[in-house]
Amino acid sequence: MSYVEERELESAYLMQTYARKPVELVSGRGMEVVDDAGRTYLDFVSGVGAVSLGHCHPALVAALEEQARTLVHVSNYYYIEHRGEVARAVSDLLNACVPEAERTPWRSFFANSGAEANECAFKLARLHAKKRAAARAEAEGADEAAVAAAREAAPRIIVTLDASFHGRTLATLAATAQPAKQEAFRPLPDGFARTPINDVAALEALFEAQGDAICAVMVECVQGESGVHPCTAEFLQTARRLTEERGALLMCDEIQCGMFRCGTHPFGFQHFGITPDVVTIAKGIASGFPMGMCAAREEVAASFTPGDHGSTFGGSCLAVAAARATVRELSEGGIAEQVEQVGAYMRERMYALPHVEQVRGLGLMIAVDLDADASAPDVVLKGLDAGLLLNFTGPRTLRFLPPLICTREDVDALIERLGGILSTL
Ligand code: PLP
Repeated sequence: MSYVEERELESAYLMQTYARKPVELVSGRGMEVVDDAGRTYLDFVSGVGAVSLGHCHPALVAALEEQARTLVHVSNYYYIEHRGEVARAVSDLLNACVPEAERTPWRSFFANSGAEANECAFKLARLHAKKRAAARAEAEGADEAAVAAAREAAPRIIVTLDASFHGRTLATLAATAQPAKQEAFRPLPDGFARTPINDVAALEALFEAQGDAICAVMVECVQGESGVHPCTAEFLQTARRLTEERGALLMCDEIQCGMFRCGTHPFGFQHFGITPDVVTIAKGIASGFPMGMCAAREEVAASFTPGDHGSTFGGSCLAVAAARATVRELSEGGIAEQVEQVGAYMRERMYALPHVEQVRGLGLMIAVDLDADASAPDVVLKGLDAGLLLNFTGPRTLRFLPPLICTREDVDALIERLGGILSTL
């Protein structure tokens, strides 16, 4: 079906929640996608950072084909092959590059998306706080009623950062500290507080004022949707210290900045000298197949018992097969160094482009702020004519999240085409 026919059908039968670009994509391979008219585009969006191995990677395709012929779905009532193996591989990646004393067996819950992974983290944080409060009361010899009261009064506030993005469900929207996104959907679940990114004094003041009521802090070590803004090591280390002092959890939303996106290390937090208690993962974990994970340190994960949380499709046979192939390719292929080197090269070349005011990012999570003479949405549209899939996060901000297999030659092609667009503005 052609672009025009597809567009007409979608406008008649889909809820109009997306302002789609005027193109219909029908196939892809590696860094490239092809539209219905046979035109190719270099993809610097990768399904918003999801297609980590590039389009239709042979290892992913083979794993999905084999699994589709074997068993697609049974339910979480049963054990299936490879689920434990994927969780162990992720646990090993989470333990990589952190001091020996901070390593732990990480236990995971499998979900279908980033928002669901974060929902799991929020439920776990609340339950963990209640169980800790009840256990402390019991240890002090409290009677049944006092234990129940202690559980009720347990810390419940989850702190997130201004301009963060944690998802579109009601609870993850409450955590997403962007009033403009929240306003239309109030009332939102309560128990969330916000603090400015990288403001150590404000975070300390928040803990001073409300520390007894805080059960967790959730951060994106590198904020994605706000336009690629990294936290400082000092800020994250302060968050780690304050949460530890109060018995609250530090939770890293690694949905966009994790799974080798930032280069050098598997996860974003490993760049900043902190080890969190809970990590949420999605996007690149299964290279485009829907999958989310919430991983927690063993003693924290133990707060969940059967019946506390669940998902029909989470960790299904197909999703696990896709994640197994992806994690294997990413872990064994020297991808971290490649992402680091290509990302550094891309940032350096970006600076030389006209209208570029600032370049930010780590690895292949990069944003460029344009000057007042350039409009990012305009550049994205012009990119289509130049054979580029681009993305903007603000009126003057372009964000680049290419597949992690992106090479220097791909960057050269991007710079040539993007430079062509920007020099006409
Ligand atoms: N958290 C972060 C940091 C994200 O970037 C996103 C999506 O962009 C989400 C959560 C939500 O993930 P999903 O769209 O898979 O629900």
